[in-house]
Amino acid sequence: MPPVIDKEKCIGCGACEEICPGDLMEIDEHENKAFCRANRDCWDCMACVKECPNGAIETRIPYQLGYYPAKLIPKKREKEIEWTIIDINANVEKLIVETRNK
Ligand code: SF4
Ligand code: SF4
Repeated sequence: MPPVIDKEKCIGCGACEEICPGDLMEIDEHENKAFCRANRDCWDCMACVKECPNGAIETRIPYQLGYYPAKLIPKKREKEIEWTIIDINANVEKLIVETRNK
């Protein structure tokens, strides 16, 4: 599922454009907001979601894994990522995963 960008939160920093391994993210020149230029090519790696400093990007979990409003929300810190996992019944669980790049 392609990334969904919250235009209110996007500050046009370009971090998502730089990190996307598929070169799919772009900054709209007029609005200075990010968008995915090829939704069908996105493979949900979530690199852009993790990299966004403003929490402006979400990926929707494919229906085979969990119906809306199931969500995975990463929050990147210097040495770890905190994952908030919300299931289809709105149960919330948090996981801390250490990053390898220390
Ligand atoms: S989820 Fe991955 S492939 Fe999809 S736009 Fe973001 S960085 Fe690119
Ligand atoms: S990383 Fe976030 S704030 Fe920066 S351009 Fe992308 S969506 Fe906007």
